[in-house]
Amino acid sequence: MPHYTFALKEKKMVAKETMAFVFEYGDQKFTFRPGQFVDITLEDSKHKDDQGSTRAFSICSSPLDDYLMVATRLTDSAMKKSLAELELGRLVHVDGPLGSFKLHTDKTIPAVMLTGGIGITPFRSIIKDATEQNSEQKLTLIYSNRAPEDAAFVDDLEEWQSYNTNFNFVTRWTKEDGHIDEPFLKKHIRNLAKPIFYVAGPAGMVAGTTQLLIEIGVKEDNIKFEEFAGY
Ligand SMILES: Cc1cc2nc3c(=O)[nH]c(=O)nc-3n(C[C@H](O)[C@H](O)[C@H](O)COP(=O)(O)OP(=O)(O)OC[C@H]3O[C@@H](n4cnc5c(N)ncnc54)[C@H](O)[C@@H]3O)c2cc1C
Repeated sequence: MPHYTFALKEKKMVAKETMAFVFEYGDQKFTFRPGQFVDITLEDSKHKDDQGSTRAFSICSSPLDDYLMVATRLTDSAMKKSLAELELGRLVHVDGPLGSFKLHTDKTIPAVMLTGGIGITPFRSIIKDATEQNSEQKLTLIYSNRAPEDAAFVDDLEEWQSYNTNFNFVTRWTKEDGHIDEPFLKKHIRNLAKPIFYVAGPAGMVAGTTQLLIEIGVKEDNIKFEEFAGY
C-alpha cells in the first residue's frame, strides 16, 4: 500500500468537539478518488493506550486541493488526544488511499447522500469535487444533527450550493436522536426509485438509515454505505 509522510499544516475546530487537520503533501504526489479514506499513524504519540496510534479517516478535501484534510470527533482515546495536541510541522504517517466508496459514474442517475455528525467527511470531498468539475449530476445531501453546533462544514456546503445548481443541501435539526425519519425523506426526495443512496458514518447511524431506506421501498442494490468502524 502506498505510504506517505505529511506535515501538519493547520488544525481548526469545525463543529462541537470536532477538529479538522490539514496536512501538506510537500513534494509527494498523492492522488485519490473522492469518498476514499486513509490510515493515519502518529509516531511517538504523546498519550498511549492499548488501542494503538493508527485510525482510519475519510478524506474531506478534494483531489484539486494541494493538501489532505481529515476531520474527527475528539474523544478521550490516546490517539485522538495526541492528534489534537500535535504541533504544527510535526509529521504523520499516511497509508492509502483506501476504499471503494465513490459516486456511480452514470451522471444521469441522481445521488442522495444521507449522514449525520462526523459522517459528513467523505461527502464534503465528493460534493467539493463535483462542484469544481462542474458536474451535471443531481446531488442531494441530507445532513442531520441534533443542533447546528454539531454540524461541520455547513458554511462550505451552503457556499457550494449557492453556485452549483445541481447540488441540493438539506439540513435537519433533531433535538432527540438526530436520525432522519420517513416523512422527512419523502418530503425531500420525490422519486425514491430513481437515485442511488449513499450513507456514511458510525455503524449505528448507517444501520438505522439503511433500514429506513429499505422500509420505505428503496432497493438494497441502490444503497451504498461506508461504516466508520471503531466508534
Ligand atoms: C472507512 C472508515 C472511515 C472513517 N472515517 C472517519 C472520519 O472521517 N472521522 C472520524 O472521526 N472517524 C472516522 N472513522 C473512525 C475512526 O477510524 C475511529 O475508529 C473513530 O474515530 C474512533 O476512534 P477513537 O480513537 O475515538 O476510539 P477508540 O476507543 O480508541 O477505538 C478505536 C479502536 O477501535 C478499534 N477499531 C477501529 N477500527 C475497527 C474496525 N474496523 N473493526 C474493529 N475494530 C476497530 C481499534 O482497536 C481502534 O483502535 C472511520 C473509520 C473507517 C473504518
